[in-house]
Amino acid sequence: MRCLVIPWIAVVAAISAVHARADEPLLAKLPAKFERLLPLHTKLGPPQPHDWLVEHKEPGQSYSQYLHSQPIRVDKQRRVIYVQPLGEFDSAQRKVLDRTAEFLGIYFQLPVKVRDDLSLDVIPTEARREHPTWHVKQILSTHVLDKVLRPRLPTDACAYIAITTSDLWPGRGWNFVFGQASLSERVGVWSITRNGDPHGDDTESRSCLLRTLKTASHETGHMFSMQHCTLYECNMCGSNHREEADRRPLWLCPHCLAKLCHATGADPIQRFKDLAAFSKRAGLKMEQDFYEKSLATLEGAR
Ligand SMILES: [Zn+2]
Ligand SMILES: [Zn+2]
Repeated sequence: MRCLVIPWIAVVAAISAVHARADEPLLAKLPAKFERLLPLHTKLGPPQPHDWLVEHKEPGQSYSQYLHSQPIRVDKQRRVIYVQPLGEFDSAQRKVLDRTAEFLGIYFQLPVKVRDDLSLDVIPTEARREHPTWHVKQILSTHVLDKVLRPRLPTDACAYIAITTSDLWPGRGWNFVFGQASLSERVGVWSITRNGDPHGDDTESRSCLLRTLKTASHETGHMFSMQHCTLYECNMCGSNHREEADRRPLWLCPHCLAKLCHATGADPIQRFKDLAAFSKRAGLKMEQDFYEKSLATLEGAR
């Protein structure tokens, strides 16, 4: 059993390998507006034991490598992010889901629609189990992707994301996953059940929200062909365990931000304004400060 180090997210479809210009330095020049943000960011230090980059040797992906990889982008037909509630949500869990849906719209500067709830009745017995030692009820994440989401993919969806209160496991040999995404099929599923207690005090419920926002935005980034970041402390860094995920910021480094803006057509100034306002409303002070500093840096250069 893989139990010592449990990958943060299993990815069912390999990210398309980037062979074009693979010899290009990762720090190849960015467009000027993104370059200006670099001094605000911290370079990624050497990985700690059990961190993602110890377990997974990844080369990283520069902005120009991304451009050459023919990434998935929004187009006229597919430009809506759909969020699919799956299972029972109480009021505190529902609040996390609604805020996450709002946040995804801001993070990617795209319209978001929350679909009507789907009951866990759509999951058949053969796609459920009780964990053999923890005795936690779990649903099979691959079944959610292939049999629940793919047949229901809306024609205007650029990403279709199920958020569930049920624990997930991806198949034989695994204890659980936080979530799973198919990079080619535009579908993904994430559980909020391991993100902390949304019913707790302010600190606990904020932590649950922040973890859910990080996972949802990181994975949706993959759905736009963004690979893991190896350059800076960044939301697109891979995370192998909870402590590493908590260490990573909600924000993107300038390289990953440039990729996001290429994929979605987002205006970084408007995006920082919206993110600062969201963070203020959600009580995410560190994030609010960072987005305000980023905004001031870009506006000061205009
Ligand atoms: Zn990832
Ligand atoms: Zn990055």
